[in-house]
Amino acid sequence: MDFVQDPGNAQFRTEVREFIRTNLPRVYPEAGSPAWSLRFHDRDSVRLWTRALDQRGWAVPHWPSQWGGLGLSPVRRHILSEELATAGCPHPDAISVDFVGPVIYTFGTPEQKRRYLPRIRAADDFWCQGFSEANAGSDVMQLRTTAVRQGEHFIVNGRKLWTTNAHFADMMFALVRVELPGQRRQQGLSFLLINMRSPGVSVRPIHTIDGRHRLNEVVLDGVRVPVENLVGEPGKGWVYARMILANERTVIADVRSARLQLEQVRGLMQDCREQTARLAGMEAARHQLARLEIELDALEVLELRALHEPPGEQTVPSMLGPILKVRASELRQRISELAVDVLGDRGVEALPDPEPNPLPTEADPLACLSACYVTAGYLFQRSATIAGGTSEIQRNIIAAVGFGV
Ligand SMILES: Cc1cc2nc3c(=O)[nH]c(=O)nc-3n(C[C@H](O)[C@H](O)[C@H](O)COP(=O)(O)OP(=O)(O)OC[C@H]3O[C@@H](n4cnc5c(N)ncnc54)[C@H](O)[C@@H]3O)c2cc1C
Repeated sequence: MDFVQDPGNAQFRTEVREFIRTNLPRVYPEAGSPAWSLRFHDRDSVRLWTRALDQRGWAVPHWPSQWGGLGLSPVRRHILSEELATAGCPHPDAISVDFVGPVIYTFGTPEQKRRYLPRIRAADDFWCQGFSEANAGSDVMQLRTTAVRQGEHFIVNGRKLWTTNAHFADMMFALVRVELPGQRRQQGLSFLLINMRSPGVSVRPIHTIDGRHRLNEVVLDGVRVPVENLVGEPGKGWVYARMILANERTVIADVRSARLQLEQVRGLMQDCREQTARLAGMEAARHQLARLEIELDALEVLELRALHEPPGEQTVPSMLGPILKVRASELRQRISELAVDVLGDRGVEALPDPEPNPLPTEADPLACLSACYVTAGYLFQRSATIAGGTSEIQRNIIAAVGFGV
């Protein structure tokens, strides 16, 4: 495989760097402070940066130009994400921009495109994904949420589980079972857009082991959804969902954040060098760091291969997405384990305050913030091999697609 850099790509990277250099301090005056890289980006800060990127078409760079994108190639999109992540910029909301946006511009009605795409692009609306249910995670075909047509509405009843960001989302894209008048309930799943402010929607928080609130249970109790909110054909929701799952795996793989994590461990090890008592253990940690670095280099080559793959039929699962997802999520877990090992006792001390205030004060040195952040990250990384499809399911896909078993 020939990864020789196209000079246009190098020029593009320079443009992105220049954009960040001039715009980041304008949007966030605190950017560049030592605590910046530890900051947790909330909805408002994501919105501000998404709007700044939108001035260049970079909020939705892969979208077609008709909807405000640039149809950017996967390689340039990768360069953009890499530079933004390195500078610690918030990422535009992936669930909205990378998951539902492409489904709407590919399969939606002209009215759905007009209504939702500009609002996603401007970060006016944030979306959540309502696929999983209590007994329908890996095997989503078991889901039980129903949408029964009554006149110009569907009446939706069911419970969605593990719904990321439902507590602040404006809209949900959900997989449901549709029942049309005079017909039996659809065997296939349908793809429905639900306004989260509709009467009958209630959101219950699920706090994760790191103490943060990202996940929720969403109860849908007689929610009236206009029939025009159905995407594509009833019973074909799985076709549209597959497009999302393929994107989700690549987004969740997030090889770049594994690299940043690794750099953080290197920094922690340098900090710990002064503590001579722990030097003996450091030798083993250094070996471990070197091994992880080599595996990460190999993973980055795999990612480049995926980026250079000729574009195929988007709804057909490829093998590279699942391989990247398994390798990157497992590697991120191992890097976070090493980070906590390096922290030693400080890692445990950090536990009572899983949500550190990212602004440093005289009384709260950065080292403590960093310990909280590292320990919380380690705990949340346990979910990396579950979210977006478990490692076992990814391995099943690899076996089926790659080896025909
Ligand atoms: C942090 C996080 C965020 C999430 N966000 C969302 C979200 O926003 N929206 C959403 O819809 N869902 C979300 N999910 C849910 C996620 O998609 C599911 O947790 C995942 O698909 C697994 O389903 P499950 O939890 O029901 O586990 P199960 O499917 O019950 O699996 C339990 C165990 O059995 C194994 N297993 C199951 N089937 C097989 C098989 N055929 N072969 C081998 N092993 C198998 C699994 O690998 C796993 O180890 C999120 C999950 C997490 C952890």
